[in-house]
Amino acid sequence: MRIRTKWNQPLPLFNDGVLSLFFVGCGSAFATSHYQNNLLIVHGDDHVMIDCGTRAPVALRELGLKPTDIRNWVITHSHADHIGGLEEVMLMNRYSGSGKATIAIEPAYQRILWNRSLRGGAEMNETSEGLRFEDFWEIKRPRRAAGLPRNAALVHFGRIELLLFRTHHFPEHAQSWRDSFYSVGAVINQRILFTGDTQFDPHLLQAFQDLYDIEAIFHDVQFFRGGIHPYLDDLMQLPLPTREKTVLMHYGDAWKQSQSRIRDAGMQLARQHCFYDFP
Ligand SMILES: [Zn+2]
Ligand SMILES: [Zn+2]
Repeated sequence: MRIRTKWNQPLPLFNDGVLSLFFVGCGSAFATSHYQNNLLIVHGDDHVMIDCGTRAPVALRELGLKPTDIRNWVITHSHADHIGGLEEVMLMNRYSGSGKATIAIEPAYQRILWNRSLRGGAEMNETSEGLRFEDFWEIKRPRRAAGLPRNAALVHFGRIELLLFRTHHFPEHAQSWRDSFYSVGAVINQRILFTGDTQFDPHLLQAFQDLYDIEAIFHDVQFFRGGIHPYLDDLMQLPLPTREKTVLMHYGDAWKQSQSRIRDAGMQLARQHCFYDFP
């Protein structure tokens, strides 16, 4: 993994063929020192953005992009720091002439995302019968993948492969991913584990490291105990080989106070607006 800090505006959505991750934001839901945790993946001419939080459209503008420039989307779950900007994106695509962007989404989550979040501001804009989710989006269906540690589905965007797996995120009292509300993380090209949002779930990390040769783990973190993300002190108990490939993301504004402890534990904090290249 190589970190590349220099690039020209507007942010390029293509490269010379390297798998590359770029944090449009790496902060928690309420962070003010970073944008929310939304990830762009670029590989050759292919790109996909994972999540579109409340502040993602502003973050994209800062990078020299319009929200309509992102042509492929995956959504991990319905918290506002992951979907709060999505309605703006889909309305802009329809009414600015950019045409439908593609979203990879399973049917069950499509119903949740539309009926419980997006429908209110989108359905009745044109006809009294109403518009549907598929009037705004080109839909790509992930294919269910069997034999994995938990429910998972596979989808490709050109050379980018995402294995979307269920996570144990919310409500707080859920015992496992099975009784959690819909949320997913992703294994990217069988090389990178991106947890999305999850509670502390060491079995998840071990199971996917046993299956694949995982080079880096991008993991959400929080700096206090309780709630629906892993507490830093719990992540510090992971085996050293796991910690040494762990990059912490989705962090709050108190990150500076924990920086040296994170480094001493062999981990690092994700950096916003840099490319993480995987040659
Ligand atoms: Zn979140
Ligand atoms: Zn969340």
